[in-house]
Amino acid sequence: MDCLFCKIVAGDIPSSKVYEDEYAYAFRDINPQAPVHILIVPKEHIPSVDGINSSNSAVVAKIFEAIPKIAAQEDLGGGYRVISNCGDNACQSVKHLHFHIVGGAQLSEQMA
Ligand code: 5GP
Ligand code: ZN
Repeated sequence: MDCLFCKIVAGDIPSSKVYEDEYAYAFRDINPQAPVHILIVPKEHIPSVDGINSSNSAVVAKIFEAIPKIAAQEDLGGGYRVISNCGDNACQSVKHLHFHIVGGAQLSEQMA
């Protein structure tokens, strides 16, 4: 499948890995919007939040178990934001489910 994040998970495209387990892979965003900007993705291809269902939601739970571990590893005790852009209006540019973990500085109150 011609999917950038599937290729990153497979190691076909290099990335700066910060965390990996059986279900999820996390790496640094190539264009960071904050001092810490990590993407965590399921290893299986799910196109977006819209593609989450009862057959694959366990992997999403695993991702959310991993996020606080990554936050601790990255010294994000001061707080951080978890974002998933879904679809065109949200400017989702890579059609493989991913959660941005953004922090390392005071973030703006602006959400949109
Ligand atoms: P989206 O806009 O879909 O929510 O987020 C996609 C994110 O993937 C963007 O923040 C973008 O900087 C990041 N990105 C795009 N291509 C690559 C890449 O090849 N490597 C890495 N590490 N991040 C990428
Ligand atoms: Zn994919």
